Amino acid sequence: MIQPMGAEVERTVFFVTSEMYPFSKTGGLGDVLGALPLTLFRMGVPAAVILPFYRLTSSRHKILQTYYNIPVGYPWGPVTADVHKIVFNGMPVYFIERAEYYDRAAYYNTPKGDYFDNAERFIFFCRAALSFIRNLEEAPAVIHCHDWQTGLIPAYLHYYRNADSFWQNTSSVFTVHNLAFQGRFSSRLFVDSGLPSEAWSFSGVEYFGDLNMLKAALNYAGKITTVSPSYAREILTEKFGCGLDSVLRTRERDLVGILNGVNYAVWGPEASRYLPRLYSGQDMAGKKLCKDALILELGMSPHLRNRPILGFIGRLREQKGIDILYKIVPELMRRDVGIVVLGEGDHTFEAASERFAAEYPGRFSSIIKYTEPLAHRLHAGSDAFLMPSRYEPCGLTQMYALHYGTPPIATAVGGLRDTITPWPHSEATGFVFRDSSPEDFLESILQAVELWENNPEAWAAMVRRGMEKDFSWQRSANAYIEIYRELGFADGSVYY
Ligand code: ADP
Repeated sequence: MIQPMGAEVERTVFFVTSEMYPFSKTGGLGDVLGALPLTLFRMGVPAAVILPFYRLTSSRHKILQTYYNIPVGYPWGPVTADVHKIVFNGMPVYFIERAEYYDRAAYYNTPKGDYFDNAERFIFFCRAALSFIRNLEEAPAVIHCHDWQTGLIPAYLHYYRNADSFWQNTSSVFTVHNLAFQGRFSSRLFVDSGLPSEAWSFSGVEYFGDLNMLKAALNYAGKITTVSPSYAREILTEKFGCGLDSVLRTRERDLVGILNGVNYAVWGPEASRYLPRLYSGQDMAGKKLCKDALILELGMSPHLRNRPILGFIGRLREQKGIDILYKIVPELMRRDVGIVVLGEGDHTFEAASERFAAEYPGRFSSIIKYTEPLAHRLHAGSDAFLMPSRYEPCGLTQMYALHYGTPPIATAVGGLRDTITPWPHSEATGFVFRDSSPEDFLESILQAVELWENNPEAWAAMVRRGMEKDFSWQRSANAYIEIYRELGFADGSVYY
């Protein structure tokens, strides 16, 4: 075990991210940033976070200080950002405000598609974050960036280091939360990035004639991490590499998979703010009540109290394999199970969900919404959790499901493979199937239903094992500290 290392280190680790729960969230990225920096901070690492100040940013925290008119520089000339500081559980969090970019109805897109100026919005964000840091007295030890929205930061750092001694001892870590989202834009926007022309190359930010912000990070970051060991291996292959596997293979030595954790203070049947009744592995009565309440809340058929309810929570996208589930809904309905799908996404998938709900009233429930409280209640009230993802960098919902005593039925990919021990292993916590095919998925679900129906003791034992799994952030945080150490976090020298 690596010792927490606060006292010996003075210099900051700055997290730069486009989402952080509870201030902003569209998916797992928000959850991770809501937990990892704070865990490190509590372990003594001087962590701080920088994120955009969206209209949707929810915060009841008092702004302690505003840094006005931070110049963001070329190519915007006199354009500036205001930066608000709050303190969140003791840790500094900085919000970058520029109304024309972030004061909008959504984070990245509307139902019609991505905001047309997302490149400009996040180039600005990267530059503003670095301009803000540059105004501080001391440079951070590490800037830890997340996903394409912050992908240019490692590139800027690379070039700034040559020009400005302030950055000499600052290195970058980049975490890939999903390789499929790359921030790929027209080459015209390269000029807006303000990067030198030499960055326009295979070993820079150029990708088949376009600007690719994720690729920038993969080429320039000191270390690259991703969110599970299996996904770290998978993305080196053509099948999962999203066109960047060859770039990643050049960085294989600097690529590490660190499994995400669960914020048990937020997610769990003993702690959740949203359940009608709390419960635990020692006292499961509440889970039954949560199921009854869910049936009432969603207007499902009362006979489902005695039948398994299968829950799905996630973006309705191909990645999540929702279409694989849709293919087997009629067969599952013949087996008299309940299905609840909570999610929004592609219109065709949303429409399919609504059609099933109309066709199987009381047995198929479709909620096309993003609603955190219902996500908790669905985790608690379902008997099993469906996750037929085609790929899954880590996946948080299956870990939440395990903790709510709701065994996951999932594809054997990425983080799902790393977090679920599959039936019939004696230590099984859920079910996994190998190929993303409806037939294999159906077979696994039927196995689960059969066990639920015919062997309640074995089912209960599996539930208990899942609830006892410990995916707390502490362990992952230690692994990140190790990465920072390798970059010279502790001794002041820095290896890029
Ligand atoms: P990803 O980040 O790929 O979307 P994860 O499983 O890592 O998938 O994280 C998804 C997070 O988003 C979880 O916290 C999950 O509960 C939440 N989530 C996704 N869709 C919804 C929804 N429709 N309503 C509420 N929460 C949702």
